[in-house]
Formats: sequence, structure tokens, C-alpha cells
Amino acid sequence: METSEANAAWFARAKRVTPGGVNSPVRAFNGVGGTPLVVSGGKGAEVFAADGRTLTDFCCSWGAMILGHAHPEIVAAVSAQAAKGTTFGIVTENEVLFAERLCSLVPGMDKVRAVSSGTEAVMSAVRLARGATGRDLIVKFDGCYHGHSDSMLVKAGSGVLTAAGATETGGASSAGVPADFARHTVSLPYNDLTAVREFFAARGGEVAAVIVEPVAGNMGLVPPVEGFLPELRALTQAAGALLICDEVINGFRFGLSTYTARFTDVTPDLVTLGKVIGGGLPLAAVGGRADLMDLFAPDGLVYQAGTLSGNPLAVAAGLKTLEILERDDPYARMEATARVLAEGVMNVARQKGVPVRVSQFGGVFTLFCSEGPVRDLASAQRCDTALYARIFHGLYQRGLYIAPSQFECNFISAAHAPSTADAFISAFADSL
Ligand SMILES: *Cc1c(COP(=O)(O)O)cnc(C)c1O
Repeated sequence: METSEANAAWFARAKRVTPGGVNSPVRAFNGVGGTPLVVSGGKGAEVFAADGRTLTDFCCSWGAMILGHAHPEIVAAVSAQAAKGTTFGIVTENEVLFAERLCSLVPGMDKVRAVSSGTEAVMSAVRLARGATGRDLIVKFDGCYHGHSDSMLVKAGSGVLTAAGATETGGASSAGVPADFARHTVSLPYNDLTAVREFFAARGGEVAAVIVEPVAGNMGLVPPVEGFLPELRALTQAAGALLICDEVINGFRFGLSTYTARFTDVTPDLVTLGKVIGGGLPLAAVGGRADLMDLFAPDGLVYQAGTLSGNPLAVAAGLKTLEILERDDPYARMEATARVLAEGVMNVARQKGVPVRVSQFGGVFTLFCSEGPVRDLASAQRCDTALYARIFHGLYQRGLYIAPSQFECNFISAAHAPSTADAFISAFADSL
């Protein structure tokens, strides 16, 4: 079934006035083909397409909607704040409460600054690391995505992997990044301890920071191998470099703190948060050791600012989201649903002889169209993206919306009923 006329008509209009018809590339369906989804709204685990169809949403705004769409308590919190004013450009009480909350929930986070996007959080963390160490070099990992600031568009993941001309131009993943900038970012294979050790042996003294997604989520879901994160901590410490854990996807997704705090013994110097903490509004944060955070202006020499930073509406949604997550503790339920889904899909795939393996951790999963395990970008890129596109459309026709790209995560929110797993498995079997 082709997407209906209403949907196609909206997208045609979008294309006339917006580059590629979208405000962020992956929404354009480059990774799967066909007419992109246009929605008029959503409720709980569902989104409503412009053509009148209701779809179960596994994209969940790339993980931001951990409580599902239009959660009544979030709606009430945002509405109440709107009536009191939406932005002041002055310190507000709620942003103090929000910062106190984050600092109490994330070990090692002495201070935190709010920004409006994950891109901004990472950009600020990277500038802080360079300012703190007096060094320029940043080490990242192939296929990790840290937003679209110049320094981070080197062998980047997410939409970069399915965008037109997704090639490395002058050392960067995008045109418009000066080669002079790109040479200050080195990208190494994710999960490759040997590569990291060798790099630090040769150039450790030049490194301002290593930035990593503790669980990679932007080449599809790829958990860290045993010892990877502790090794990054040890090497950066010995070299006088900082460790930045980019938890924009991971943070508060697997429990009421960062992944790193809950599942490892590693304490990073700086942490970036986004997505979940904003409750579906534009809110992100960079936080960490007080001596580092104090280097930000106005007290320090590292400039960082924002007209809408700590925006009252976003902070109201973020505070309420953290409150509900603590009260309802939906994490075990989300993980159980995702696990049932992952096992069921793999059983069906095995029975039908289709090379699909599901990477799952907590309530997050990716269907990798791959014969072998995926542990880094090279193995992710060996996936059969044509098969992924066929599976995507098979599910889409049956009312299930997964990420329109092989190289992204899918999410179970607190609004997804446990029966969602069975519905997914049946639709998957049926679409094969
Ligand atoms: C989504 C994401 C970003 C960028 O956040 P935006 O809010 O899209 O700018 C950065 N890092 C990671 C790990 C992400 O998943």
C-alpha cells in the first residue's frame, strides 16, 4: 500500500518550502524509500498520520518521549507554566530545582548547565574540554553521533549514514566543515581497545577529551564490550585528558540516572544529557566536575550562552518527567516488553531463514539485517539495508512505525502495553 494522498500532498507541500521536505534528515525516509510519514498528533504509544491512519510509534521522537505522547501530567505541567510565562531570560526557580535534581541523580555531576539541544550540550562540553586542557584534539568513535557541530561531524552516525553524499569530504562527514577543524577530531573504531591504546601511546598528550556514547545508539544499538569504558577512563586519566560521556540517548533511558552510573564503575569528567530529560521539549544539559564547570562564563573563560537556555516550558516538562519516572518506575516493564519483542523477532527470523538479529538493551532495540554480530560501524555497515527497507515497509503497512533507517534505535515507552511485543512479532512474521 502506498501512503495515502493526504500524506503525500502534505509532503509535497513540505518539499516546496523546506529542504528535502524535513527539518532533520532522517525524517525524509532516505534510508527506506517511499513517502515520509506526516503526522497530525499522537497519544500514548500511537501517532496519527495525516491520512487518518493510527500507527504504533517505536521511534518516540528518537527516544525523547519516554512516557509516550501527550501524557496528561506533562500536558498539565506545560499548560500551567505557559499561563505563568514561557521565557524570561532571567533565573527562574524551576531551573534551580531542575539542576538540583540532575545533580542529585547523577554521581559526579556537581554542577550542570541547561541548553536547548544535544548538539549544543556536546558543543559546549567540547569547548570546555579544550579550554580546560589547553589542547585541541578530540577523540570520538566511528558511527557515534554527537550532534551536528563542526567538531563532531567526523565519521558521524545517525542521519549522516543515510544522507545524500554521505561520504567523508576533506576529513569531515559534511560539506562546510573546514578541513582545519576536522583535523582536530580523530575517530577510532568503537569497541576497539587496541586501537585506543595504540592511539594514546602515540598521541595521548595531545588529547583534550575522549567523547563516547556509552551505549552507542546512532549506528543502531551497539552496547560497549567489557572493559571498553573503563579503559577509556584509565587512558584519559593517565594522559591528562577528559572523558565526556554523551548520554543524550542513554541518560535516564535505562533507569533514573546515566547508563555509566548505573552499569559501570566509570565516572566521567563531563556528561551530556538531552532527549528524555526534556520530556519532549527542547532541553538538554552539560554537567560534571565543579572545577571544570566553573570554567564556563561568567566565572570562567569558556563562553557559553543561550536566549532560551533553561526555558521554563521545557524545564516544567523535564521536571515532571523525572518525577513520573521516579514515581512509576517503568524501566523494568519497558525492558521486559523489549526483551520479549527481541526474542520473538529473532525466533521468527530463524524459522524463516531471514538474517535478522535484534540488538536490545533496556527498552531500546534495533533490528540488524545482518548474519553476524554488530559491534562497530564497520559491522553495522555490512547490514543489508535493502532488506531493512522491506521490513520497515512491511511493518509500516501493518500500522507499526519503526525508525526509517537501519542505523537508529527503536524505543519502548512507558505507554507501550506489554502486548505491543506480540503485535510486533505477528506483524513481523506476517510481513516476511
Ligand atoms: C540525539 C543525539 C545528539 C544530538 O541531540 P540533538 O538534540 O538532536 O541536537 C547528541 N548525542 C547523542 C548521543 C544523541 O543521540
